[in-house]
This record gives sequence, C-alpha cells and structure tokens, in this order.
Amino acid sequence: MSNLETSPDVTLCHTEADDHAVAELFTPRAVPLGGLRAMQVDRVMPQRGLPTVGAWCFLDSFGPHEAAMRVLPHPHIGLQTVTWPLAGEIHHRDSLGSDVMVRPGQLNLMTAGRGVSHSELSVSPGPLHGLQLWVALPAERATMEPDFEQHVSLPVYAAPGVTATVLMGSLADVTSPATAHTPIVGAELTVTGAAVLPVRPDHEHAVLAIDPVRVAGREVPPRHLLYLGTGRAEVRLDGQGRALLLGGEPFPDELVMWWNFVGRGHDEIAAARAAWEAADPRFGEVAGHDGARIPAPDLPGVRLTPRRRR
Ligand code: MN
Repeated sequence: MSNLETSPDVTLCHTEADDHAVAELFTPRAVPLGGLRAMQVDRVMPQRGLPTVGAWCFLDSFGPHEAAMRVLPHPHIGLQTVTWPLAGEIHHRDSLGSDVMVRPGQLNLMTAGRGVSHSELSVSPGPLHGLQLWVALPAERATMEPDFEQHVSLPVYAAPGVTATVLMGSLADVTSPATAHTPIVGAELTVTGAAVLPVRPDHEHAVLAIDPVRVAGREVPPRHLLYLGTGRAEVRLDGQGRALLLGGEPFPDELVMWWNFVGRGHDEIAAARAAWEAADPRFGEVAGHDGARIPAPDLPGVRLTPRRRR
C-alpha cells in the first residue's frame, strides 16, 4: 500500500521525540455499572489492543452528573483499586473494617491481593464526577494479604504550564506515599498552557483527558485516552484543563481479567467466583449492608484467556 497523501507530513523531519513515538487515541465505551438505577460509566481500559499501561489495567470515568453511585459489596482479587473523585464524595466500606469518605484531592487505595470485598456509595445529592482505576499486582504479590490506605494529602510536581498531583508512584523527583508494587506513575494534571512533563523513556505512558487538552500535539477529547508507548523522555501538553497521566514499566504478564478479578489463568478466576458465590470467608464481609451484595455473573461457556497486546 502506498502513501496516498498529497502533501506528506513534514513534521517527520522534526527532531522532537513526540513526532516519532506512538500516539494512538482510544475511545471509551459506555458501560452500565450495575444495580436497578444503573449509573453509566465510560470505560477506556482495558480494551482491544490495550490491556495495560504499566500495571494500570482498568480505567472508568463517571459523571459529572447527578446520578447516585450505589455499588453494593463485591469482591476483588489480584489488583489494587484506585478511587479518585473529581467532584462529590464517596463512602467506602470494606471487609477489612474500613469505613471512610473520600473527597476530591484524596486517594482511596485498596489492595485486594488474595481477596477483599467493598462497597462504594455516593453521599450527598449533587454532581458526582470521578475516576476509578485498577492496578494489577505483580505475580509475586498477587495473593498478598489485603490492605486499605487513604491519603488525604498528596505531593505536587509543578512546572511552567502544569501542576501534577502524584497519586501513585513517581513523577520526576516527586513520589506518592501510596503503596505501589511495580514502578508506576499516576498523576492528575492541571494544564494552564504549554507544558513539558519529564517521563521515563523505559516506561510506557498514556494520558486520559478529563477536559479537552492537547497531548503530544494531538487534541484529546474528554474521557479519551492517548496511548504514548515507550521511548519518550517528555510529554508535551497544551491548553486549559485537567488530565490524568498514567505510566509505568511495561507489565510483563498476560492477565486474565473477568468481572472484578485479575489473575493469570481460568482456574484462579473460577475459584474466586465460586468462593464469592459461597460467601467464603476469603472475601470477608462488608458491614452495614445486611448481607446485600452483587452476585457474580455466570462464567462464559469457554475457558477465559488472557487479554493480549495488539
Ligand atoms: Mn470495586
């Protein structure tokens, strides 16, 4: 196949790294979150061709809208959940006995390890807006004891045109106090003009737009993710608005992801499903719900297989 462009792009001769590296835009899909009055979320990861960015393996945007979030107790294994509200408050309760509110600028980080369960409910009427992400645990930590952390104050990296609140891992010399199990970065960016973020060339990166912003010379619409690959020493930003930088060491394992579980094989996922359905102590109990819980869906009729990179 030949290049059909009548005026080939001269920027290929440019020396900026941005012009040579990958920049692939991923579109979110609408997913009902479950429950009778289901809240709809926009899921941009995982999707075909993009199972992970570093150890980040799941990314939902919700709101801003007035709908209530009512996610009853449900289980997780093999991952960390990262809850990052942008507006509104969320009430988190889990099987470790945690019972906390999380507000904008604060991080809830729950490490599922071998098994945990939790509920998340929005609190007051008013707009709810936020992000929910999962981080895959490396194989040697995948069955660790569960844990929960809340961080109400997070460090900020600042450079001309951008401030970045570092929720997970490190950006330049700024490191989040949250426990990460792989080399990773997650940072909420407030872009106020042309900016350059330093990143590690040996890590892969992606930027989710919260507001429309320019990333590596591309317009990124809200809730879309621009995948930037590896090999960049910097990420160029421009515009006015918020975005989320994700990155990390490319994840070495192929993951089997099904429902709320991250694992490495069908049998591991099937065992977790059976344990939840049997109310096995592995997942504990979330206080305050009188036993109400989200039942596991049926497994598909075929063996679950890993999500593969394109
Ligand atoms: Mn959850």
